[in-house]
Amino acid sequence: MKEKKKTDIMKIINGYAGGHRHLITVGRILAAVSAFMGLVPFYDLWRIIRIAVKGEELSQIKHIAWQAVGITLLTLLIYIVALFCTHIAAFHVQASMRSGLMRRILTLPLGVFDEDGTGKIRRIVNDSTAATETYIAHNLPDKAVAAATPVGLLVLLAVFDWKLGLICVIPALIGFGFMMSMMGKGMQEKMAEYQNALENMSSEATEYVRGVPVVKVFGQSVHSFRRFKDMIDNFGKWATEYTLMLRMPMTAFMTCINAVFAFLVLGAFILAKGGVTQDIILNVMYYIIVTPLLTVTLTKIAYSGEQEMVVVDALERIDHIMKIEPLADKTGTAEPKDNSVTLENVSFRYKDAQTDAVHGLNISIAGGEHIALVGPSGGGKTTTAELVARFFDVSEGCIKIGGIDIRKLDQKKMMERVSFVFQDSRLLKTSILDNVRLARPDADEEEVTAALKAAQCEDIIDKLPNGIHTVVGDKGVYLSGGEQQRISIARAILKNAPILILDEATAFADPDNETKVQNAIAELAKGKTVIMIAHRLSTVKNCDCIYVMKDGAVCERGTHQELMSKNGQYKSMYEEYSRSVNWKVGA
Ligand code: ADP
Repeated sequence: MKEKKKTDIMKIINGYAGGHRHLITVGRILAAVSAFMGLVPFYDLWRIIRIAVKGEELSQIKHIAWQAVGITLLTLLIYIVALFCTHIAAFHVQASMRSGLMRRILTLPLGVFDEDGTGKIRRIVNDSTAATETYIAHNLPDKAVAAATPVGLLVLLAVFDWKLGLICVIPALIGFGFMMSMMGKGMQEKMAEYQNALENMSSEATEYVRGVPVVKVFGQSVHSFRRFKDMIDNFGKWATEYTLMLRMPMTAFMTCINAVFAFLVLGAFILAKGGVTQDIILNVMYYIIVTPLLTVTLTKIAYSGEQEMVVVDALERIDHIMKIEPLADKTGTAEPKDNSVTLENVSFRYKDAQTDAVHGLNISIAGGEHIALVGPSGGGKTTTAELVARFFDVSEGCIKIGGIDIRKLDQKKMMERVSFVFQDSRLLKTSILDNVRLARPDADEEEVTAALKAAQCEDIIDKLPNGIHTVVGDKGVYLSGGEQQRISIARAILKNAPILILDEATAFADPDNETKVQNAIAELAKGKTVIMIAHRLSTVKNCDCIYVMKDGAVCERGTHQELMSKNGQYKSMYEEYSRSVNWKVGA
């Protein structure tokens, strides 16, 4: 079973290594050669001791010593060349894994990043590929050394005195048996559990850090973060159980491999029954010199099994991303005839969900029309908007832009046609200029400035130390939610895509910001087809059509006046909304 895993690891690694796979092989062979050569100085040492004990040919000692030094240096050199080969191959594998992952990620539905969490994906792209790199660069040559050394040692042990050699090998073999028993105890699953636990703790820790202000304000302690605390407790419990499980075999393994000395001395006494000869003393001394090497090698073999499990886990995580189904990218040549958007009988169910998030949607928006999606939370507004931007592909029905099914549209062309302004605007840690320019990298500074002006961002730019060259998120540079949204509106203005999907921000810090955001949106929406997720009903009154969504379906549609005359869901929502606004003003 272990053999199968090993071949699988190498098969995957060789797949990424391409032509560099030969370097891995060369590296491993050189590492094994260096392991064999590394034993020669021990033989030289024995020769020196023999000369010293026998008191003959003393002049040879210097010569042998220099030979030992020379061979040690050569061994080191060969090992360095081996590492050089495996490092080059490892860097190549890591680079091709990362670029493969990034290429794959670019083809994935945008919704995957919400579902899987960008943190987890980042961890896989960074950490799992780094683990593979370490495995190829260091662990593979080390494994070759660990495999070659015992073979060389066995030969040496047998050549000098096979009886003493056997005495050294017996405890080593028993220790090895204990080690194999440890490996068998569902270790691979345990390693996956361990990595999952670390991953969960780290994401819970992030939540905890984010929540620290709340904790402080309300005088709470870490215990209020139940999930975080439970994660830590469970991990502690798991780690203790796991350690206890391995306590016996690990203790036995360590005892055996460190007991070689004791066996040796005992064996020497038994063998020397007939009288202690010079040869026996010499051989025992040789074995005393060489046995620590046996101990070190066995320990290395024990740990190489663990490293193998880490890399198997890393490769599985990489494979998970590579297996996510990409959006079917039909690089069709069809051109939409206008900027209309139609949803025909659209249903969608999230992966692993029990029910449809939206179902039976029929919405028709003519080019240049403004529509709003309103309704209670969980009604399906965000899902509908995201489906139009092809974050996911519909489960049933179809969505058309300009009469063409969006699944048949070239993705790049589709992206040129559609802009999305998110509620939680995402600004990157770079200058305002570059943040806006993300929409159109070839735009010059003048165009960016004009877009910022149209998005009512002048006051923001004025207060920043380096104007549009100020880096967002740098020391002391803080933009409020409303300000960030205005910058991302400037981005959409610069992109100037004819279809605009807008998730209205729910909360602004102050009315001034709110007015500016509204003005910026009005500027952006001019002449465009607009789908707006509206949270405040004051902003939807002028829309060409309002769709009220509830439980994943449209329950009412019409203009503000039409819906107000219906006495339905919208009217009661609107009245409720007006009351809350008036209450605020009154208060
Ligand atoms: P709204 O925007 O109106 O609040 P959503 O479109 O966010 O509604 O949600 C519609 C339904 O889909 C809800 O029942 C919600 O729980 C579910 N949902 C939303 N996002 C996901 C997701 N990533 N995975 C599974 N279910 C989801």
